Amino acid sequence: MTAYQGQVPDTRRKADWRDDAACRAEDPEDFFPIGASPAAKALERHAKAVCWRCPSLEACGRWALETRQPFGIWGGMTEAERAKILRRRGIKLTPVEDEPAQPARAKREPAKCGTRPGYLRHRAAGETACAPCRQANTDADNRLRRTGTMRVLT
Ligand code: SF4
Ligand SMILES: [Zn+2]
Repeated sequence: MTAYQGQVPDTRRKADWRDDAACRAEDPEDFFPIGASPAAKALERHAKAVCWRCPSLEACGRWALETRQPFGIWGGMTEAERAKILRRRGIKLTPVEDEPAQPARAKREPAKCGTRPGYLRHRAAGETACAPCRQANTDADNRLRRTGTMRVLT
């Protein structure tokens, strides 16, 4: 068994909406604009435009709401837009991670850079994530969009 090498295993699940996802041909970074700068807003508009022409828009949006995706644009919605919809249903948008649970003692240590938890830590702190964290998030996002789990499949 080898660790995830950047190759996305595409054959381990049943066909679903991800197969038609228009964002598969896009840079995942575009789907995680940070903040409200003009550059971030431009990325957001670009990502949403991809979503609007995506045949999976509805299924993706439903999935993002059901799984409480904490960050990123899914189904043409930003995290703030999803949070608003969930709030109306009395649900709080809290991150749902399917990374393996951290041992209790690790809780006091900040998540390491170069991991998705590290990326989430930057985001939670309102910072721009560092390059290794952005890469880890991009890799996790690629796995998520294509396999339905962020876990590394071996
Ligand atoms: S994020 Fe969802 S709706 Fe947007 S392009 Fe990707 S699969 Fe389609
Ligand atoms: Zn980092």
